[in-house]
Amino acid sequence: MSAQREYFRPLQRLRMRKPYTIALVTLLAVLTLTVGVVGVERIANKFVLYIRVARLYTQDPPRKIVMPLQVPKNQISNTWHVPRGANRLHEGQDIFAPRGTPTYSATRGYIYNIGQNGLGGQTVSVIGAGGRVYYYAHFDSYAPGIAEGDYVTPKTVLGYVGTTGNAQGTPPHLHFGVYTTTGAINPLPLLTDRPEPEKPGGKRVRG
Ligand SMILES: [Zn+2]
Repeated sequence: MSAQREYFRPLQRLRMRKPYTIALVTLLAVLTLTVGVVGVERIANKFVLYIRVARLYTQDPPRKIVMPLQVPKNQISNTWHVPRGANRLHEGQDIFAPRGTPTYSATRGYIYNIGQNGLGGQTVSVIGAGGRVYYYAHFDSYAPGIAEGDYVTPKTVLGYVGTTGNAQGTPPHLHFGVYTTTGAINPLPLLTDRPEPEKPGGKRVRG
């Protein structure tokens, strides 16, 4: 907003001092191309995301969410709040699967963050109804083309199972966390089995 105001001031000075005109026009052209195309679009996208996120806060959080991996729920051994180190509890569930297994969003929502951190390695956070944040960690790689602000559904691939972050040296798994506005909750009671994948023709795969 304030950036736009600054644009108008140099334009008013152009009429008074001609020698600066070419330099200023060039500078403005460069600024418009770089800040304008990249920056303002980014800011606009963030703004749109904030409005969408604000709307999500007015909705009730889902009582059931879909397994982010094509793995039966009963294969998860409950590690919620298991001590990890001296002063940390496990704030999520680990879902083990071969490296490279596609990880889908467990919910509808918007990609809130894509980023690297020490514990989680390559991570994606999705914000859904009720302002809940779903956290996917230890990705081997991200799904190509995903970006912050993207709308996602349980059919959207976010990334691929791996061992990045503090999962190095462990069997590949997805760390899945659910955060309400007041803190982490156990994802396990919310999770339901993912439906069998559909063939391109629309028929369900048997077995
Ligand atoms: Zn974990």
